[in-house]
Amino acid sequence: MKNFVVAIDGPAGSGKSSISKMICERLPFTHIDTGAMYRAVTLEALRRKIDVEDETQYSFVNDIEVVYKDGKVYLNGDDVSGLIRTTEVTNNASAVARVKIVREKMVDFQRGCRNYGNILMDGRDIGTVVFPDANLKIFLTATPEERALRRYKENKAAGMDVNYDTLLEEIKIRDFKDSTRKIAPLKQAEDAILIDTTNMTMDEVTNTIIEKINERLK
Ligand code: C5P
Repeated sequence: MKNFVVAIDGPAGSGKSSISKMICERLPFTHIDTGAMYRAVTLEALRRKIDVEDETQYSFVNDIEVVYKDGKVYLNGDDVSGLIRTTEVTNNASAVARVKIVREKMVDFQRGCRNYGNILMDGRDIGTVVFPDANLKIFLTATPEERALRRYKENKAAGMDVNYDTLLEEIKIRDFKDSTRKIAPLKQAEDAILIDTTNMTMDEVTNTIIEKINERLK
């Protein structure tokens, strides 16, 4: 089947991006990480020193281009994939992603990715808003404690100075902001398959989703 769309949604730290990458190494799908796109807008907002809570300060969004291609995110043509992973960007992204004009622009870019062929897009609102007609929808979850622990191990391995309790608190704040915002809140689509990854390995989750994709491709 051509232009098969897989939507993977879930909260921060549920493993969406890592698992999506692993799936795309094994199947002919292009991965699009929409969180990276919201992070790129956040980077630009911070560079412009706007008040991220003030929705009237976002007209700059009309002058920027955000492209996700081959595992990298480009802001006005520059690869910003590394710059979007700072704690400052992470902790401001939910405020930026609440803004109507930001979401409209990103959803346009994301729908444009349909012509990449078979795509696997991960985010918060892919199955509910961006591609409500996706061929397969997955909703990944895990307890906040497990997600904070995963972030803790990742950051520690990357040589960062981290504190588990701070990470847990940040994850809970992001969950709250993402799931209570007015536009496109984080929520499971009615026809999405729920996978609780708390007690699963990355390989187990990857294999489960690949099985579902293969079933639908038949
Ligand atoms: O997935 P990641 O943690 O990189 O996403 C960063 C932020 O972007 C999230 O906290 C969320 O506020 C926002 N986001 C969103 N919709 C998406 C993907 C991400 O609102 N589809």
